[in-house]
Amino acid sequence: MKYCTRCVQPDSRPGIFLNADGICSACVGHDEKIASIDWGERQRDLHIIIDELRKKRRGAYDCIVPVSGGKDSTYQTHKVKELGLRPLCVTYKTPLRTPLGQENLDNLVKTLGMDLLELTVSPETERKFIEKAIREVGDCGLPQHMGIFSFTLRTAVQMDIPLIIWGENSTLEYGGTEAQRNNPFLDRKWAMEHGCLKDRIAEDWVDENLTREEMEPFRFPDDDHFARAKVSSLFLGHFYKWDPVENARVSQSLGFKPNPDGPVMGIYDFADVDCQLITFHHYPKWYKFGMTRTFDNVSVEIRNGRMSREEGVEWIRKNGDDRPPELHLAGIANFLGKEVQDLFAMIEPFRNKDIWKKDDNNRWYIPDYIVPDAQF
Ligand SMILES: [Zn+2]
Repeated sequence: MKYCTRCVQPDSRPGIFLNADGICSACVGHDEKIASIDWGERQRDLHIIIDELRKKRRGAYDCIVPVSGGKDSTYQTHKVKELGLRPLCVTYKTPLRTPLGQENLDNLVKTLGMDLLELTVSPETERKFIEKAIREVGDCGLPQHMGIFSFTLRTAVQMDIPLIIWGENSTLEYGGTEAQRNNPFLDRKWAMEHGCLKDRIAEDWVDENLTREEMEPFRFPDDDHFARAKVSSLFLGHFYKWDPVENARVSQSLGFKPNPDGPVMGIYDFADVDCQLITFHHYPKWYKFGMTRTFDNVSVEIRNGRMSREEGVEWIRKNGDDRPPELHLAGIANFLGKEVQDLFAMIEPFRNKDIWKKDDNNRWYIPDYIVPDAQF
C-alpha cells in the first residue's frame, strides 16, 4: 500500500490513483479546482437556472431539500432560502437517530422556519434490511441512503415539485454543469451511479425474509413516471465551494450544535453526530481499504492548507483505526438483537487480505502502514 505524499490517502481507496510524483488524484483534482473554477460564474449560472425553474413552480414549494440532522442539512437549507426559493425539507428517520441529531433537526425547522416531511419505516423492516446490508455488502448505512433517495424522488413526483437540491455530489462533484443541464432528469441510473447503493435497487434485496411489500418505502419511482414528472436536480456543491469547516461555521451561526464531547469519529466535532449507524457505516472501510474517517478528514484539512502532513500523520498515529464509540456499537447491536462482537464478526469477511496480514502473534497488521510499528 502506498500513500499520497501530500495528503494521507492510500492508493487502496477506490478512485484514488497516485501520479508519477506520488500525489493522489484527489489532491491533483483539488489543485485543478482552485486554479480553474470561477465560483462567481457558477453562482451566476445557478441564479439563471433557478429563475427559469421558479417560473415553472406548480404548487406551494419550489424545491425539495433532503435533510438529516447533520451540519450540511442546516447549511444547505439556509443557502436554498438565501437563493429566494421556498423549499420543502424531507427526511428519512433512521432508527438510531441521536438526541443531538433530533435537536439539530428541530433547530433547522424552527430557526429557518421550514416545513418538514418525515418518513419512518417499521423497525422490523429496518432491522432485517440493515442486517442483510451488513452481511452482504458490509454497509449498515445502505438502507438509509436508499431510503432518503427514494423518499425524496417519490415525494417530488407525488407532490409535483420540480426541483431537488442535493448537497455534496460525491461522484459528480465539480464535474459537468453542462452534462447536468443537458440531462437534468435525475433517474434511477443517476442514483445507482451515486455509488452508495452498491448497484442494487430495492427489488434486488427482496428474499423470503424481506418481502416486496416491506421494501416498498425504498423503491424508486418508475423511470417513465419520473421522466414524465420532469423533476430536475442540482448539487449545491457544484456551485459553492464545499468545505466541511466552512459549512459547519455557517450552520453553527444558525444554532446547529456540534458534539460537546469532541469528534464522534475522525477529527471534526461537527460531523457524524446525527445517527449512531453512521459511524459503523464508515468503519468497514478500515477492513476494506485500510483507511478510516480520520484519513479522509485529515486529507481535506491538508489540501485546504489548515494542517501539515506531519500533523495529519500524528492524528492517524493516535486515531487511525477510528473504532466507533461504544455507545453507538451498543445501540446498533441492541437494535439488531445482537452482541457488539457479532457486529465485528459480520464485517470480518470484508477484510482485504491484500492489505491486511497476520503477524507472529496472530494479530492483524498492515505492512507499510503510514505509521510504522502501529498496533491495532
Ligand atoms: Zn493526496
